[in-house]
Amino acid sequence: MDITALNGTQVLRTKVLKWMCLCLASLSAVFTYFNIFINDFIVLGVLEAAFSVYCFSVFVLISRTKLKLWQPLSICACVSLLVVLGSYLSKMSHALFVWMLALPVLYYLLLGTLWGVVLSAALLLSEGIALWAKNDISPFLTLNLSLNLSLSYVAIWVVAHVFENSRENSYKRLQNLALLDPLTGVGNRLAMNQYFEIELQNKLGLFAMILDLDFFKQVNDKYGHAVGDRVLVAVTQLLNDNLPQGKVFRIGGEEFAIFSPSTTSEYAQNYAQQIRRSLEAHEFLIEGYSISITISIGVVKYQPGDSLKQTIKAADKQLYQAKRNGRNQVMMDTLDGETQLESVC
Ligand code: GH3
Ligand code: MG
Ligand code: MG
Repeated sequence: MDITALNGTQVLRTKVLKWMCLCLASLSAVFTYFNIFINDFIVLGVLEAAFSVYCFSVFVLISRTKLKLWQPLSICACVSLLVVLGSYLSKMSHALFVWMLALPVLYYLLLGTLWGVVLSAALLLSEGIALWAKNDISPFLTLNLSLNLSLSYVAIWVVAHVFENSRENSYKRLQNLALLDPLTGVGNRLAMNQYFEIELQNKLGLFAMILDLDFFKQVNDKYGHAVGDRVLVAVTQLLNDNLPQGKVFRIGGEEFAIFSPSTTSEYAQNYAQQIRRSLEAHEFLIEGYSISITISIGVVKYQPGDSLKQTIKAADKQLYQAKRNGRNQVMMDTLDGETQLESVC
């Protein structure tokens, strides 16, 4: 399963930045030549040459490593600075300022709506000041030029904002459809894969728990499927309420997984026990019925190098043991050298 598709925004921005860097590196190289050898604009030419080299090095870097915020941010800041400085230093007749019209699109594509708003506003302000402060300002003073430039800039800015905003919203809605369990609202098995493979950067000290409700079929048989559904929702709520750190996933009908960073095995064990006890003590009042339920839990410590499948399999083994031992208990594999099974009721 290609779970990178669930990280679509990151993939899109990496692609845009990569090819934007190559494009800006080539454009800056051309401008360097023009400004140094034809326009005799040494300062701008040298800055453009440096920018061209920088763009190319970011292109190489993101081809090899994961995208970091400073990369698109620094590219946007440098290109904006060049456009503002160029507008200020060059003649109005060179019309270098028209490049500002392309920048809001770049900001929104590379950095999203928040940075898009901040950078677009900052560019409008600084470009306005730069053009105002020029010596040959007479053409800019004409109402037509200032109106045309600022209005076309705002029009492009609004379109870029609306586009990126709706793209982000529909991406979020699609992501929720793919990752959230429609009944309980917590992440599903796919979300667990994404959390484990992409979101969890540091898995050291991570404990995985597989939780399965005991004799849940009897709840359905006795009170009906609709009541069973409401019990599942209430159980999920209770699990979330008992979770100081980590995440709950519903990975099967009445089966849940919890990933929790814990400093010691004792902590993880106590934590699992706390969940088991609070469920045992809880009385679910649904449609006039008072329903009590218990849970069996298998816990393992994440072993460096293990895949999610291996981790879940190990926790499942503990859960199976808990069921075999009579249910309503926590079984934990401490895996410190040898496997030690503990039944703690
Ligand atoms: P055990 O202690 O061995 O886990 O017994 P159990 O009855 O919980 O296990 P079993 O696997 O036999 O049954 C699981 C039941 O969970 C079967 C099914 O009716 C119920 N179930 C699964 N998904 C849902 C759901 O979405 N809603 C409801 N209401 N019930 C569900
Ligand atoms: Mg069960
Ligand atoms: Mg089950």
